[in-house]
Amino acid sequence: MKKLNYAYYVRRAHAKKKKLAASLKKILRKKPHGLLKEVKAASDDAWKEISCVECGHCCREMTPTWTKPEIKRIAERFGMTYKQYYDKYLYTEEETGDIMNANTPCQHFDNRTRMCTVYEIRPKDCAEFPHFHRKDFKDQVDDVFIPNMPRCPATLVMVEKLEQRMKDKGVI
Ligand code: SF4
Ligand code: SF4
Repeated sequence: MKKLNYAYYVRRAHAKKKKLAASLKKILRKKPHGLLKEVKAASDDAWKEISCVECGHCCREMTPTWTKPEIKRIAERFGMTYKQYYDKYLYTEEETGDIMNANTPCQHFDNRTRMCTVYEIRPKDCAEFPHFHRKDFKDQVDDVFIPNMPRCPATLVMVEKLEQRMKDKGVI
């Protein structure tokens, strides 16, 4: 299976991160009409360049935030109780109270196929990652898009495409 050149995207993100972050903030300040439509178009373009199956970095190195019903649902799939599953795979972050994976890669990541083995019942946080389609796009900029550019190639490319679209439209 083709493998994405992850190191290349990390280097590209570090080289462009400051400039892209400034562009994102400028876009938000300008509040352009139809911003969410532009984000959707930029993310469609990003998915033409990036294939998650060729990457898998988020499942290998990051952790989703779990809700209690999700833990119960996936524990049941493996014939485990909530507590058994929690004790084996999860922990609660003290500061935020978020329930996270204790280890990487994720216990449901198949390194051979680079696929999620619980795809159809995966946590919402996984299903929505990298959070391009949230209506609160502007609230995601500081906490999600800027820090994720060097971690998630799709995020980097989406922000690049959005910046270009906004330049082409004379917004920035
Ligand atoms: S969402 Fe981002 S980090 Fe995860 S597999 Fe896709 S490109 Fe890689
Ligand atoms: S549950 Fe699936 S999609 Fe979510 S981190 Fe684990 S392997 Fe990835």
